Amino acid sequence: MTRNIKELSPEALGAWLAAEGQDPYRARQILQWIYQKGAESFAAMSDLPNALRDRLAAAFTFGGPRVVRLARAEDSTRKFLLALADGAQIESVLIPAELGERLTLCISSQVGCGMGCAFCATATLGLQRGLAAHEIVDQVLMARRALGDAARSGEPQSTITNIVFMGMGEPLHNYAEVVRAIGILTADWGMGFSPRRITVSTVGLVPQMKRLLEDTKVNLAVSLSATTDDVRGKLMPVNRKYPLAALLSACRELPLPRRKRITFEYVMLAGRNDSLDDARRLGKLLRGIPSKVNLIPFNPFPGSGFASTPRAGIEAFRAALLRQGVHGTIRESRGRDIQAACGQLAAAEPSAA
Ligand code: SAH
Repeated sequence: MTRNIKELSPEALGAWLAAEGQDPYRARQILQWIYQKGAESFAAMSDLPNALRDRLAAAFTFGGPRVVRLARAEDSTRKFLLALADGAQIESVLIPAELGERLTLCISSQVGCGMGCAFCATATLGLQRGLAAHEIVDQVLMARRALGDAARSGEPQSTITNIVFMGMGEPLHNYAEVVRAIGILTADWGMGFSPRRITVSTVGLVPQMKRLLEDTKVNLAVSLSATTDDVRGKLMPVNRKYPLAALLSACRELPLPRRKRITFEYVMLAGRNDSLDDARRLGKLLRGIPSKVNLIPFNPFPGSGFASTPRAGIEAFRAALLRQGVHGTIRESRGRDIQAACGQLAAAEPSAA
């Protein structure tokens, strides 16, 4: 099978060019076409000699995902349903900040997910497979392309400013490919994003959390969502492997660069994890960890069996946290009407083949 050009590292591409008797500096040109100018074919690489374009086209594919559906929510959040080369489907979500300036792309790291969180729609799919680094990066290329089109038709905000690994899948359960993708997203020969604009969210895979902070400079978010092992174990099976004490002591020891904080995500589930006792326990658990808490109202999906804590309860929870010196924010649910909000991604669309 011919390889996708986007699977090659700069070194591998350089080696291929050398073997073809080409100048190695062509590698940089090709990478710029792919990651900076958003080329979609070798033919488009207009400053390469024709013969080289033909050689490339014979040796490699230039595949990207196909947009099966692009849905737009009332709040102008956009959800991409993408079909990969093998037909697997994933979703990415483009989320404009309510007051402009920021435009966040939420990307997937796996097809489905194997973590089994009771409150998450993606979990119902099970793990189908991990995404390759280029399939992760393609989500960004794809969204950027769609934004280019939107800008041409007069939409204001058209540059992606932040990337979050908060779509389908557990990024740290696909560690090598996620780190490779982060490399491409942040490289100067790649997409040139600052790692400070990238956040990886995890259910709490302790060994990989430590490695991530050593291997990259991205931000870390940890999905906590409960304050006792009993409750967390029921909501998030991963807690049986890495219970709260292990998770939080690892957080305490992470090599966080100065002034950096860990974000703890906490899905608010009525009557399950939202009491004022929970707020007090949470304050205690986070003592000594540079942290902020992001309270996420539960987003419903068919058959979930959970309900969100009402707004007033979330406010009270937040106030209780603050009394203990823990700063909490409430995540405004975006794109709910198109099932694009946290925990609603399940690629439910029938394939439009
Ligand atoms: N697997 C990683 C990355 C996904 S991030 C992780 O869990 O961190 C998705 C975030 O949405 C997580 O914080 C998760 O706890 C939260 N979430 C999952 N299902 C949800 C739902 N139905 N409503 C609101 N938030 C949900």
